[in-house]
Amino acid sequence: MTAPQRDEALRLDPGYRSLPERFYARVAPEPVSRPRLIAFNAPLAAALGLELDGADEAALASLWSGNQPERLGGTVAVAYAGHQFGQFVPQLGDGRALLLGDARGRDGIPREIQLKGSGRTPFSRGGDGRAALGPVMREYLVSEAMHALGISTTRALAAVATGETVWREGPLPGAILTRVAASHVRIGTFEYFAARGDRAALELLVDHVAQRHVPGVPIASPTALGLLAAVVERQACLVAAWMQVGFVHGVMNTDNTSIAGETIDFGPCAFLDTYDPATVFSSIDRHGRYGFANQPQAARWNLARLAETLLPMIDPAPERAVLLASAALEEFPRRFEAAWLDGMRRKLGLATARAEDTTLVRAWLDALHRGQVDYTVAFRDLAALAADGGRAREALRARFADPVDFDAWVPAWEARVAREPPLPPGARAAAMRRVNPAIIPRNHQIERAIAAAVGEGDFAPFTALSIALARPYDEVDARTAEYARPPAPGERVIRTFCGT
Ligand code: AMP
Ligand code: MG
Repeated sequence: MTAPQRDEALRLDPGYRSLPERFYARVAPEPVSRPRLIAFNAPLAAALGLELDGADEAALASLWSGNQPERLGGTVAVAYAGHQFGQFVPQLGDGRALLLGDARGRDGIPREIQLKGSGRTPFSRGGDGRAALGPVMREYLVSEAMHALGISTTRALAAVATGETVWREGPLPGAILTRVAASHVRIGTFEYFAARGDRAALELLVDHVAQRHVPGVPIASPTALGLLAAVVERQACLVAAWMQVGFVHGVMNTDNTSIAGETIDFGPCAFLDTYDPATVFSSIDRHGRYGFANQPQAARWNLARLAETLLPMIDPAPERAVLLASAALEEFPRRFEAAWLDGMRRKLGLATARAEDTTLVRAWLDALHRGQVDYTVAFRDLAALAADGGRAREALRARFADPVDFDAWVPAWEARVAREPPLPPGARAAAMRRVNPAIIPRNHQIERAIAAAVGEGDFAPFTALSIALARPYDEVDARTAEYARPPAPGERVIRTFCGT
């Protein structure tokens, strides 16, 4: 006998929907013909306090496709604007997404649930309001991988194939992703109201964000300046974490910059294989604006756009407002550098800070670049070297196209490690493995999983990859070796497409 099927409403808190009508448009999801569950994140559902234990696959597919709007409790498409590649667009908004409301999970923190790909809204412009299966799978895999890596991110609760075709360059299977975020408020949300001179809305938005208990850095004072300082801090820590794992977001527009400091929007994102700071994956990023090494600058630029929207609320005297906002923005490079260096030290097995560490880290990165070494593998191999100087050293050395930089750097690193408080080599290696993942969502693996699903309806590679990505810091074994391996030259993916 199967468990009784639960068909009650989700009973979410209205959250953002309690704000005035001009913050969003009330829209119901467009039904889909044959929803089929691809993935459901049961641990996340439980953490969010969603009571779906009895629901079978068909019930979950129906719920997360939006086919039962009465259970969702009202859905809205949220208004926002944004700077896209430096150009201001006064109206973007949820063109294919709907906000359901807040789940208040076990930790008491409200989290928004959103359907993405659920049909047209007043913000769709020319778009069809739908999402293709490939990008939905990519977001599911990469956002959950980011979470497993310990990086602040939106989560994936469910993925449903719609059974319908969406047209991009050609016909593609459609899908809907259920996304969970501490908040979907973006810098672009502030820009939307600032562009309309809607001071009252901006004040409501500041209050809304400040009152929300967003995980991570608390907002010290519920004012516009306190908010700016908190977002600066969160973005500095977030981008530092990206740089440490070799993540390239690819489309760091202000509409994709979360006030909560979560990684959001996984369209053209990708991880570095071979280390090259100039790496650009996204096909639409023609000038490399959002290339790997440019990400801190891009975040800072975006934060300046946020500051501009807050100026009148920071101080009624314009000059003083600019002074205060500039001081808050000035914290970004300082906080970024500190967070970045701190993380890089730990990646090199250093628990204490010394003045020469910046030079040591930069020399290592230069060596990886010139040696054309895989970024993730290099750090993981360095952990092995910390445990056992002999064979591991040769293995890592062999990864460098020309070992001259490696030979010069390792003695400097060993001398620096010798100035650390003593630690058994095994313990240092273990500490390094806790911050240096073996398994990251490599582009060739993601594309392989998508190709199998789109081409043959085979979701086994997707499921296997999901499982491997959930434990990125574990020792590699026979089961996971394939996912830890960098792409062979013929497998390397150097271009990604938004796929919207
Ligand atoms: P993104 O590139 O996903 O950050 O989206 C940028 C803007 O385009 C947002 O306003 C989206 O809602 C909108 N958009 C993207 N894809 C679609 C689509 N298929 N239909 C309607 N709007 C879309
Ligand atoms: Mg977006």
